[in-house]
Amino acid sequence: MEQIKKIDIHAHATAFPQYAAPHVDGYRMVCAEEIFVYYDKLNIEKGVLLPILSPEATSLPMSNENCKWIVDQHPERFVWFCNVDPRAIHNDSKTDLSFLLEHYKKLGAKGVGEMTSNLYADDPKMDNLFAHCEKQKMPVTIHIAPEPSGYYGIVDDPGLPRLEKMLKKHPDLVILGHSQPFWAEISECEPALRNSYPSGKVKEGRLPKLLREYGNLCCDLSAGSAANALMRDREYAAKFIEEFADRMYYGCDICATKNDHPYQFNNFLDDMRATGEISEENYRKIVRENAVRLLGL
Ligand SMILES: [Zn+2]
Repeated sequence: MEQIKKIDIHAHATAFPQYAAPHVDGYRMVCAEEIFVYYDKLNIEKGVLLPILSPEATSLPMSNENCKWIVDQHPERFVWFCNVDPRAIHNDSKTDLSFLLEHYKKLGAKGVGEMTSNLYADDPKMDNLFAHCEKQKMPVTIHIAPEPSGYYGIVDDPGLPRLEKMLKKHPDLVILGHSQPFWAEISECEPALRNSYPSGKVKEGRLPKLLREYGNLCCDLSAGSAANALMRDREYAAKFIEEFADRMYYGCDICATKNDHPYQFNNFLDDMRATGEISEENYRKIVRENAVRLLGL
């Protein structure tokens, strides 16, 4: 079958591997050259570099400048999102965050994320950040966390009611959802399993219902969480893709050189394409065409 050059909607890299503090598990954040090893095997043309600013998320915050610098070294292989912490400039829910967003937009930022601050999704400061992203017409990538402590990511309860509030309040804001508690909602889910990789047949949960109701909600397919949500029930995955292919974005979220989930998920998608469980049209949308349109590539 014809190889389609893919776009990775979710990438992280350090420009300074020689200075990088290790992750708590001992592995180190990848640099661009280490990502290209994956990209060459997975036939990925370009990735979206996402800064991570909040200290909750990582031992190695990745600045906007870090990402922009890498993009400038490899303009044919990366574009980038900027990131703004909702507490930036005086920890106030009235701060004009467009001041920062406009600056990074001029430097080529295509969106905002990965949002990982451990605040409630409808916290006034998050609401303010979402409002400014909406005003600037910048899509956002969010990492959902299950609790306001002990995790990274914006916090929501089972069923994602706070995210729903934001989707309703900011209808022109494109939100790309990501993480275990986001994807666990593909099915009915025990609250205790929200931050894990639940297995077994899908009994339709909150996520497909939110996607039906809110056209501004999209799916970031990166990481083990999305891979698990689709791979746990192949029959349901085919239905989900058929219904929501216009709002699904292929991604990897390669963080450390040990990561092998991108290969398993890639094989799964390619196999679904080969058997016809995913139509050719939908396959192309997911791995490339949706991202080309969203990012204006
Ligand atoms: Zn990520």
